[in-house]
Amino acid sequence: MSARAKLAGIIGWPIGHSLSPALHSYWLKEHGIAGGYIPLNISSEEFTVCVTALAQAGIAGVNVTLPHKQAAFALAASHDEDAKATGAVNTLVFEKEKIHGLNTDMQGFARALAESLGGNAAKAGPAVVLGAGGAARAIILALSRAGALEIRLLNRTRARAETLATSLKPAPVRVIDWAEWREAFSGARLLVNATSLGMKGAPTLDISLDNLAPEAGVVDIVYNPLQTKLLASARMRGHKTMDGLGMLMHQGAPAFAAWFGVTPKVTLELRATLERALAP
Ligand code: NAP
Repeated sequence: MSARAKLAGIIGWPIGHSLSPALHSYWLKEHGIAGGYIPLNISSEEFTVCVTALAQAGIAGVNVTLPHKQAAFALAASHDEDAKATGAVNTLVFEKEKIHGLNTDMQGFARALAESLGGNAAKAGPAVVLGAGGAARAIILALSRAGALEIRLLNRTRARAETLATSLKPAPVRVIDWAEWREAFSGARLLVNATSLGMKGAPTLDISLDNLAPEAGVVDIVYNPLQTKLLASARMRGHKTMDGLGMLMHQGAPAFAAWFGVTPKVTLELRATLERALAP
């Protein structure tokens, strides 16, 4: 490790909703690291100037969230394999001479999925992914890497789904019209909501799960609130479910390790702490 200050943060616009400060503060305390992790509300216009200044100021690095993940990719001088695969960076590590970019969303999703729904969840049968934004991109690649043979992709804006599917080839993605969600659920073994629907302040995701087989797992990566309408109805029907906290915790761990040189654990106690932080 370099002699950089034990400081990191998260850059977004807006950033007030982020649970990452609670997550990294917990690990800093647990490992007795006298450091800090702060939210930084920075606009697209200011992004490059601010990141360059933070790197020069000697902090360890930053997480990057909406809308900066592509800009962070462009700014980094080198990238890990997952950042190259997604074209997006959610973690910047400030090294002595350069800025290194990581994407930890893919492994965050993959680990959380295996932990919640089992190691075969991706290849149990067709998977349905709702959404074609940055999160969906990482999730599709993670599913494909975990052996998914068919990924049915539905997005409100179909053209965006088509562009995503083309850019992710050879991932086995089939684009289906948003209006045809009922048909898309037929025979599926996994459903993932990767839209922002259901998030605090956004409309809910209003779909019926009647056409989804009982053995299908249901995932919502939204974590605020933790119990979305989708997860509530999936639980009522007896589906195995996964909420958004698992992905959040598992994407945070490799970032923390890259900045502070120790790999933190994802535990039930950590989850309980984050649930308390989310409580209204
Ligand atoms: P994004 O790039 O802005 O994409 C947003 C997606 O939501 C797009 O597919 C968009 O469809 C869709 N959408 C938005 N409003 C909609 C509406 N009214 N009806 C139908 N679809 C709508 O965002 P993102 O980075 O992918 O994040 C998506 C969600 O995942 C957010 O809630 C975020 O908090 C969450 N997330 C969680 C984690 C975690 O660790 N748990 C990690 C990353 C993201 P269009 O293309 O048609 O606009």
